[in-house]
Amino acid sequence: MQFDTLVQGGTIVTAADTYVSDIGIAEGRIAAIARELPRETARQVFSAQGRMVIPGGIDVHTHLDMPFGGTTSSDDFETGTIAAAFGGTTTLIDFAIQYKGQTLRTAFDAWGKKAEGKAATDYAFHCIVTDLPDARLEEMDALVREGVSSFKLFMAYPGVFMLDDATIFRAMSQAARNGAMICMHAENGGAIDVIVRRALAEGKTAPKYHALTRPTTAEAEATGRAIALAEMAGAPVYIVHLSCNDALEKVREARDRGLPVYAETCPQYLFLSIENFDVPGFEGAKYVFTPPLREKWHQEKLWAGLAKDNLQVVSTDHCPFCYKDQKELGKDDFTKIPNGGPGIEHRLSLVYTGGVHGGRFSPNRFVELVSTTPAKLFGLYPRKGTIAVGSDADLVIWDPTQEETISAKTHHMRVDYSMFEGIQVKGVPRQVFVGGRLVIDNGKFVGKSGAGQFLKRQPHSGL
Ligand SMILES: [Zn+2]
Repeated sequence: MQFDTLVQGGTIVTAADTYVSDIGIAEGRIAAIARELPRETARQVFSAQGRMVIPGGIDVHTHLDMPFGGTTSSDDFETGTIAAAFGGTTTLIDFAIQYKGQTLRTAFDAWGKKAEGKAATDYAFHCIVTDLPDARLEEMDALVREGVSSFKLFMAYPGVFMLDDATIFRAMSQAARNGAMICMHAENGGAIDVIVRRALAEGKTAPKYHALTRPTTAEAEATGRAIALAEMAGAPVYIVHLSCNDALEKVREARDRGLPVYAETCPQYLFLSIENFDVPGFEGAKYVFTPPLREKWHQEKLWAGLAKDNLQVVSTDHCPFCYKDQKELGKDDFTKIPNGGPGIEHRLSLVYTGGVHGGRFSPNRFVELVSTTPAKLFGLYPRKGTIAVGSDADLVIWDPTQEETISAKTHHMRVDYSMFEGIQVKGVPRQVFVGGRLVIDNGKFVGKSGAGQFLKRQPHSGL
């Protein structure tokens, strides 16, 4: 058998297994796995001795090149996917936004153009639905057939993204028929808006009020309501960026009842807290994203949720805005600070550090959270999300003991600060392959912009 590339002697870690083997890659796919493959037949050989080999990370929640609050997120599909690759993420699912009055296809086409010729990793899209007359319902079916098998709905941001319960229920009922997954931003936007207006009237304009005006109860209420609507519609639901124990309790109760309810959290909710707003001047704006940072005790609850499978995925909600010029748009009014933070590059290292080195879960569970379950929930498995013969050769040679300190001075995201500045991680990628192509080699990008492929995803079929 002729291999293009051989990855030799690594400890292969999947969601299920840990074993030492060689991996032979041909035509972008894993062609063979065996204790010893003949190295003479391979064009190039990488030693993974003493290191782990894991399936490439899948980040199912990113916002590249996204217009928001009068500006645009600072990473496009080129810089964002390169930064993702540096961190061991080889596939991302971004959000195409349907604006009011538009067809869903308009959104899909617009975001396809943003990514084409730029992405260095593979990519797919969810479609954000903001307007759903009856004609659009059938369009949902058409998109599912074309590989856009998930839709995101908002229960927050009235007047911009928010949908009423009837519309959400109609979309979920359609998803129950066509196999789509509904991703939900769960916060009670109506109540939050009233609290925000009160705060502004009292002259409370500093960044920390973004967090203080979005109570955990608003997230828990909407999470519970989303679950109830999905249960009535007979559809699965995926709660995005779950940030607090109150909402986690709603997910846990639903799962205990056997409902197809899933949820993700993000590194910012695992590593940061409302205490990050205790910084001079306007710097708290660096931590303005939604849902907001919570009190520190929620962190341990979220880690426990990941360990016990009440949370199934860690994504980033990567939505970077530079501190200078972009975050500063809200200098006198926290509601004008573009919502979002950068994280696409450090997800794997942070989860490995806190989860595996922190003694909370195994390397297998780590792989499940950052790669396998995202692939399964969003119709990419087993092409992505595991190491098996026939799967895409999206591989990370992972050094589980190497330490690094996260800093804006050394990161590759196009943004002038890091939310995780100064945090020390243990566990980093050495080599990263996308479809058999080496894209990261010991801290150097050696891939090609535009080489990433659009992925058609299957309908949801359960875990
Ligand atoms: Zn988001």
